[in-house]
Amino acid sequence: MVVDPFAKGGLQDAEAVLRAHGVDAYFRAVEGWTDDGFAVLGGRTVVMAGSNDYLGLSRDPRVIAAAVEALGRYGASVSGSRPLNGTVDLHERLEARIAGFLGQEAAAVATTGFQANLALAAALGPGDVAFSDARNHASLIDGLRLGTGKILTYRHGDLDHLRRRLTTAPAEGRLIVTDGVFSMEGDVAPLRGLRDLADEFDAKLIVDSAHDLGVLGTRGAGLHEAAGLEDRADLITATFSKALGSTGGVIAGPAANVTRLRYNARSLVFSAGLPPASAAAALQALDILEAEPQRRERLRRLARLLHDGLRAIGLDTRPSTTPIVPVAFPDMAQAGAFWAGLTEAGVVVNLVGPPATSRAMLRVTLTAAHDEGHAERVIQAFTRVADRLRTPRAAQPLPPVEIS
Ligand code: PMP
Repeated sequence: MVVDPFAKGGLQDAEAVLRAHGVDAYFRAVEGWTDDGFAVLGGRTVVMAGSNDYLGLSRDPRVIAAAVEALGRYGASVSGSRPLNGTVDLHERLEARIAGFLGQEAAAVATTGFQANLALAAALGPGDVAFSDARNHASLIDGLRLGTGKILTYRHGDLDHLRRRLTTAPAEGRLIVTDGVFSMEGDVAPLRGLRDLADEFDAKLIVDSAHDLGVLGTRGAGLHEAAGLEDRADLITATFSKALGSTGGVIAGPAANVTRLRYNARSLVFSAGLPPASAAAALQALDILEAEPQRRERLRRLARLLHDGLRAIGLDTRPSTTPIVPVAFPDMAQAGAFWAGLTEAGVVVNLVGPPATSRAMLRVTLTAAHDEGHAERVIQAFTRVADRLRTPRAAQPLPPVEIS
């Protein structure tokens, strides 16, 4: 029997199941934005409650102006890889700037956050073992898979399980790898415990701060800052496509670690450098992020409103303590029906499910480009749809969560 190598499951299968239930949830094109924080989709004005533009910077006029200026000065592409012709001075400025911001010695910019995580392959050689949280982002998993060492998964956030694995697995070099804030369920990795285990077992700790950069910490420098561990990082990876409103990725940490990956990681060496417009946008966004802490405060305020509002009507948003607000459903068909009801009501959220997540869920995020009115609309839409679909809910309102 000849099989079609292209015909392999994944999101397409999930989509087929949803379509059978009349739900068309993926690859829906945004046609534009209104000035008051609404998105235009299918000709309708909706609350986009699924964006990772946490601080509302992707459409900030200062960020756009910086990108336009760089486009005029350097062109649309660097037309080559970083080690050869594809480095511009903007990359170097951005690397120095972001290293300083993260409290790290050095940083190397990648073309996407995904590629920053693929760079881990270069750190996982024969005889090495990577200990990877079971809910890590796909890009961390793929980075490790491209390495030649072994990967052992530990139960999500479970320090005891990780300790057992560290104790029993023979290894030359050890890496512990985790998301900082988990991308789908919004819970925070136990960084102090992970750091202590890394020290005890002489392992390097790698943290993907995609969803905590700009969100956690008094300065917005992410989970290491929030935990007071900036001076003990081995490697932080992050993306510019979330709180920095741009595109691109970065690895940061002690100069020796960053330099090794800058030279050895194939995803950094063999790909065209970050477009100058994206580098300039990220640089400008960093300035705004630091100068305007009120954006982070607004993000947290709206996150609190969302968590509390949904929990007040008996919808559980655990385990999140962050602006990523998950609401779980028994299966994709029910999550899909709820998603369709929300869309009909003018609220667009993210519909996600296994294998990307441990369960069928809606992932809801508001950003600093939104206000209390948007939050109110989201909560009202959830209430109406839950009533109409008779969604199972806790009998009592659930108590508020403490936002991280
Ligand atoms: N890490 C995490 C935790 C992410 O959520 C994402 C994006 N979804 C990435 C890495 C990849 O970042 P980028 O979009 O810049 O490729």
